[in-house]
Amino acid sequence: MSNPASKPDHQGPATRIIHNRRHQDTFGSPYSPIYNTTTYRFENTAALLDMIEGRSEGYLYTRWGTNPSIQELEQGLAGLEQAEAALAFASGMAAISATLFTHGRNGIVCVGDLYGGTQAFLVEQCQALGIQVTFLFREELNHLAEHLDQPGKLVYFETPANPNMAMLDIRAIAETAHKHGALVAVDNTFASPINQKPLALGADLVLHSASKYLGGHSDITAGALMTSEALAKPVASWRKNLGQLIAPETAALLSRSLRTLPVRIRQHNENAMSVAQAMEAHPKVTKVHYPGLPSFEGHELACKQMSGFGGMLSIEVEGGQEAAAQVADSLKIFLLATSLGGVESLVSQPSATSHHGLSRDERLRRGIGDGMLRLSVGLEDATDLIDDLTQALS
Ligand SMILES: *Cc1c(COP(=O)(O)O)cnc(C)c1O
Repeated sequence: MSNPASKPDHQGPATRIIHNRRHQDTFGSPYSPIYNTTTYRFENTAALLDMIEGRSEGYLYTRWGTNPSIQELEQGLAGLEQAEAALAFASGMAAISATLFTHGRNGIVCVGDLYGGTQAFLVEQCQALGIQVTFLFREELNHLAEHLDQPGKLVYFETPANPNMAMLDIRAIAETAHKHGALVAVDNTFASPINQKPLALGADLVLHSASKYLGGHSDITAGALMTSEALAKPVASWRKNLGQLIAPETAALLSRSLRTLPVRIRQHNENAMSVAQAMEAHPKVTKVHYPGLPSFEGHELACKQMSGFGGMLSIEVEGGQEAAAQVADSLKIFLLATSLGGVESLVSQPSATSHHGLSRDERLRRGIGDGMLRLSVGLEDATDLIDDLTQALS
């Protein structure tokens, strides 16, 4: 399949991201300095005009996206998704909002469950601006074509989705969407680019909250869009005028995080698989939602479109909401906190956090059981994590 957004590379992702740099440092440092600057001086007016009028490349003002630290980060981000281009943002929501404003103006069709912030943006801001937004349940996917009656729409989804890891077939959705002249955007935050490459499966735009696995240490708020040069260009203009740029210092921190992304993800995958298997064998756990388990509904699809199953899973404990809260409160290593993708393990109860606003019926309709706990499995020793869950469950 020829997808202009997807650009395969001959080196592996770990090699590429460790050796990602735009310039050779004068002092021989293997890594670039941080360009903490808002502006750049020119030799003379003619040189400034050459840059502004497009006759020469150069740097004018950091908010425009012209900053060596940011551009080096973007080169690395593009490589991770094997994309032609990448744009870095101040947050995941900045990346998502700029992308939806740019490419969703003819209507957005969402499939399955979405991150709460994205859902709020679609309902509050997009609809206030007159953008038509349609929400389809995952089970209504066979009606997708009916909602793509006019060309130029945007199909938007997440897979695996929060909090029950529900899977959507990227290749199949992209085929339907493209047949009807629509673009496809996938939020790939949960999987990370190491485990899943939506562009290679036919998607046009890939989004990340870099505050999660890309940053990986729960200390950076950032976002990213990976796509083709042609689709990135108009988004860069929205980013510039909405002022959503990542700070150069944060960009350099994120570049540092990315160098360990492949190895971190490998360990997240391994730890989550161990935890999932232990939970599946536990008598007080009624269900485990993890793409890597053969008992999981989406396992076959996960094997087809993911190369690793990720660090996120959810379990359902006997006794419903109160019992689940008690387990969450009894954990000693897992921290009771929202967010995900850091080196430390986190636990959250969807009915008390991300899906608190929904009625019980609505939660059940979305496959969120009363006793569900979502786990972001970190990089501690897996045996300690399993011991912690076991003591909390008893
Ligand atoms: C956290 C998250 C976002 C939003 O990212 P921020 O960096 O918090 O703005 C978007 N999508 C998913 C799936 C997320 O988990």
